[in-house]
Order: sequence, then C-alpha cells, then structure tokens
Amino acid sequence: MPKRLLILGSTGSIGTQALDIVSRSAELEVVGLSAANSWELLVEQASTLGVGRVALSDASAAARASEQWIDGEVLTGPEGLIELVVSSGADLVLNALVGSAGLGPTVSALAEGIDLALANKESLVVGGELVAALAEATGARLIPVDSEHSALHQLIGIEAAPVATGATRAGTVDRLLLTASGGPFRGHTVEQLRDVTVAQALVHPTWSMGAKITVDSATLMNKGLELIEAHHLFGFSYDRIDVVVHPQSIIHGMVTLCDGAALAHMGYPDMRVPIAYALHYPDRVDVPVPALDLAAIGQLDFAPVDTQAFACLDLARAAARAGGTAPCVLNAANEVAVHAFLSERLPFLGIAAVIQEALDELGSQPVHSFDALYDADREARRVTEEAVLARA
Ligand code: MG
Repeated sequence: MPKRLLILGSTGSIGTQALDIVSRSAELEVVGLSAANSWELLVEQASTLGVGRVALSDASAAARASEQWIDGEVLTGPEGLIELVVSSGADLVLNALVGSAGLGPTVSALAEGIDLALANKESLVVGGELVAALAEATGARLIPVDSEHSALHQLIGIEAAPVATGATRAGTVDRLLLTASGGPFRGHTVEQLRDVTVAQALVHPTWSMGAKITVDSATLMNKGLELIEAHHLFGFSYDRIDVVVHPQSIIHGMVTLCDGAALAHMGYPDMRVPIAYALHYPDRVDVPVPALDLAAIGQLDFAPVDTQAFACLDLARAAARAGGTAPCVLNAANEVAVHAFLSERLPFLGIAAVIQEALDELGSQPVHSFDALYDADREARRVTEEAVLARA
C-alpha cells in the first residue's frame, strides 16, 4: 500500500521539489494539493497526478480554477484548506505553506492523528508549545523538512516527539548546532546594509528558495525562527542550541555529545534530500544528488554571527526566551516587515527596527489557546503596519 500524501503549497519551491521526489517513487500516492493563488499550475499538477480535490487560499483564483477544471473539486479559503486536510484520508501531510497561515492546517493534521512533514517552520514558531502537546496527545509524528532540523532529526536518530526526545536523549546529546550560510550580505557592516536592494537580497549564495525565506536568510531572521523551531522539535533549552555561520552550507547540523564527540550531518545543499527523508521516513530512498566530494570542496569555513549587523537573530532569541505570545508577535511582525521590504516600502535595516518596535509595544502574554495566538498575530500585524507607515 502506498503512503497517501497531501501536499499543501504544492506550487512553491518545496512543493515542486516534493513532486519531483514523488515522481521517482512507487511508495507515494498524492491524494490532495493546495496553493495560495497559482491556480493554473495547481490544476495542471492535479490533472497529471489524477488528484480529484484541491484547495486555493485565494477566492478569485479558486473561482477561475473551478471554471476551467471540470474534472475535480476546488475548495477555498482557510476553511477549505482545513476541509482538505480533514477529508483527505492522507497518511502524511506535507505542510509547505508560507508564514503563520500554516498553523491552522498543522493543527488540523495533528488533531486528526495524521503524520506531518513540516516545512512550515512558522507553525512551531507561533504555536510551538500547543502544537508539540497536540502531537504528543494524538501520537502523530512531526518530521522536519527544514534542512538543519532534518539533519538534527537524523543525528538524534529517534522520532522527533517533542519533549520526549529531549527527555530520552538528554543524557547523551549535550548541545545542538544550527549552521547558517550567512546569506547574500555575509560580512556586510551596518553601513553597507543601509542601501541594499530587494534584488540583492533575493540572490541566495547556496540555497534556492521562495522570496520570503530568502529575505529571512538575508536578515538572519530565518536562523532565529529555526532556533525556536529546534527548541520545540527536540525539547532543548535555548542555551543549549548554538548557531554558527558556515558559508558553504555543507554541514547542515551538528550535535555534541556528553563524551565530547560531535556528529555532523553533511551534504550538498539540495532540499530534495530532507524532503525525501521526511516523505519516506522511516525508510530511506535514492535521491539523484552527487556524492559529497570533500577534496573538490577543499575547505569549510566557520564564523560567529555578527549580531551588530544582523539584529534579527538576537530579537528572535529574546522573543524565544520571553515565550508566551512573543514568538508569535516576532513572526507576524517579520512577515509584515518582509512584505513591506519586498514591495519597497521599508529599507532592509527597517525590518529589524519595526520588529523591535512591535515586540516592545506588545510584550509577551501567556498562551492558553490557539485563539490567543490568532489574536496576537492580528494585533502584531496592525502594530507593525503602523510602524512601517510611520517610517515612510
Ligand atoms: Mg533551514
């Protein structure tokens, strides 16, 4: 019996690479697809794969898809996405949505006891404690797709059941290390960052990704979000998770053990490796990537993060330590700020500045429900939009 797979965000960078993995496997059967608004590609994917039901977040894109695609059903809006998850009969949901919009489908999948391959790190940044508790309660597996976390998941070598992972391995794994490429502006001073353009920020040196995450990599907020993601996935306290700049992106993650040994996960930067791992877990399959040739690479470099020039990592650490709604505010403010930067309404250094303002203004409130998170998310977006406007 093939594994029944639902792909959320199938037209994006992760989604299309996941379909490449699916096309090489007899073990995976796609039972549903979703996209934000790229309806033509979505319908094409569904027709090729024989999928009868899709969801489009954007209502007008959904309407056009319904007109053009007579062979299947098109759901729409956040509710449509949830219905797709709940009714899919999937064994595994790949959540490759962008931003906090991924939280709802993450909650639905886990609540249904469906295993989740998680590329949407914002689900854990925003709702980490509640999401981890939900996975534990229903027994659904949470398998990271983020390359660094996939590396750590493989290194720790046991299921990433949050809390339990930390509890069972606390005696042997001492510290976790996330590597950061440093992005396109590695080595830049604050002065040099003042006038960088959108086009410059969108050229990532080692990874090919969507626009939002590429800007997050340029500000190093991506590593801040990944720090919070690692905490919730593996149950390690923040003072036991380190970040190092490693421009070649050959080492994706490392664990140091209690006896002084350190285990690193290596490979060329190719997202199909962590995607294939998550989709086939616990099995491993062939992925057409070249074998690592260290002699050809010659050298690997490492450096500390310049937190003066890249303030976002420290903002994320502070929000993470504050807990409660602070990581949700951090994430929402970042989404608004990155969007404003991409539409040239905010300079590059303004991203960290407006996030700081939102965190200062809203502080941290305790989180007892997902509704509290949705409220905090909405409020943070409003405050950050105002901060962006005040700087224009
Ligand atoms: Mg990553």
